[in-house]
Amino acid sequence: MFSSVNPYTQKKIKTYRADSQTVIERKLKQADRAFADWSALSLAERTGYLRKVGEYLTANKQRYGELMTAEMGKTLKEAIAEVEKCAATCTFYADHAEVFLADQIIETEAAKSFITYQPLGPVLAIMPWNFPFWQVMRFAIPGLIAGNVGLLKHAPNVFGCALAIEEAFQSCGVPTGVFQSLLIGVPPVEGLLNDKRVKAVTLTGSGRAGASVASIAGSQIKKSVLELGGSDALIVLADADLEKAAEVAVKSRMQNAGQSCIAAKRFIVEKSVKKQFTERVLDQINQIKQGDPMNDATTMGPMARLDLADAIERQCRESVAKGAKLLTGGQRDGCNVAPMLLDKVKPGMAAFDEETFGPLAVIIEAKDETDATRLANQSDFGLGSALWTQDVAKADRLARQIQAGSVFINGLMRSDARVPFGGIKTSGFGRELSEVGIKEFVNVKTVWVE
Ligand code: NDP
Repeated sequence: MFSSVNPYTQKKIKTYRADSQTVIERKLKQADRAFADWSALSLAERTGYLRKVGEYLTANKQRYGELMTAEMGKTLKEAIAEVEKCAATCTFYADHAEVFLADQIIETEAAKSFITYQPLGPVLAIMPWNFPFWQVMRFAIPGLIAGNVGLLKHAPNVFGCALAIEEAFQSCGVPTGVFQSLLIGVPPVEGLLNDKRVKAVTLTGSGRAGASVASIAGSQIKKSVLELGGSDALIVLADADLEKAAEVAVKSRMQNAGQSCIAAKRFIVEKSVKKQFTERVLDQINQIKQGDPMNDATTMGPMARLDLADAIERQCRESVAKGAKLLTGGQRDGCNVAPMLLDKVKPGMAAFDEETFGPLAVIIEAKDETDATRLANQSDFGLGSALWTQDVAKADRLARQIQAGSVFINGLMRSDARVPFGGIKTSGFGRELSEVGIKEFVNVKTVWVE
């Protein structure tokens, strides 16, 4: 049995019976059968379905938004924006898939040689609760358009969202078995990965989960894509627009109550502007309005689960014990944690070394740009960094030195369907979104005609 609990009210929303082995087997069979028919459709037929799904999501964004907010606590505004982003991504891939997946002629001495992109089959998607629609759809939209079918193992606290996504596909006439939610915990995952019908796996979540899943997939020689945590730097150099940098830094760190893999988790600031930048950050944090996430005026809801709130409290406490200074925040009421700002953070503290998944902003002082880059790279993670400077040539040079899957200059680090998204080091491997993402779960087949 699984239960979803509203993190703001702590009231139980619903209880779900776990899928039995018989149900799992039935869903696997359905996925396997559905793949044969789905992959035989023309690309235009598949994109047609996904276009409809986009329209359906838009038409139901209020209902889906409310469900997300109830299950994991993000503000309703954030939740509705998330559904809209999924809908826009349906349209994006429907518009571009034909070009992305077109055969590619390669000039050789052969009469004809070309690359063609073919789907793999059922792909298992193991997904987290922080963006319950987006994380799933970011895989499912390109994955299904490419001709694969999806089996979702979502986080149990957002099983309502898992079923709602399945319902969205069904309501648009997507054939049975093309997208199914499995109501399971972790134990059945190994059996699924070992099953010959499951061809590949994608996981978004913690490093611990990623390491386990990728090693089982590896033992079966199955493709995996891992989108794991981050402890990304937001570097502020002396010539930055401090007002704008502080505003975006706080948004990046505090949106979704700080529970985002690409949040700016370490503000690394040049010494000469540290005081002015910190004051502006403090001012921005003081403007955050906590409260009922369903309420329009609320800008930060609760964290998604009590254990996640415990974890961020511990990371703050341990960092303070090692010399960091708490400038604001930290009061707690259940899952509601007042947004925190920690100054004097250094390597060796939890707030520097670990992924902090909650409303905790930290200030790290750097002597100069070289020191800032060194500190940014002094991390096991490498997902999505940000850099603030008005010197474009310098930004270009430093962006190449920062160890991360993305670097956003003078703007909010975000995922965008048009550009690849993913990490290096322990932030994972493989890419989602864009042309690169749709080609992760395909057989890149060479055909050579002598
Ligand atoms: P998890 O990584 O444990 O959960 C994410 C998903 O992976 C869930 O569906 C979970 O299932 C599943 N999972 C967990 N362990 C395994 C496993 N061994 N094999 C297969 N699937 C597994 O994250 P948590 O929710 O526990 O959060 C812990 C921390 O992880 C956060 O504080 C944050 O640091 C990081 N995280 C990062 C995310 C990101 O976007 N990069 C998203 C979520 C978390 P189940 O819930 O049933 O255990």
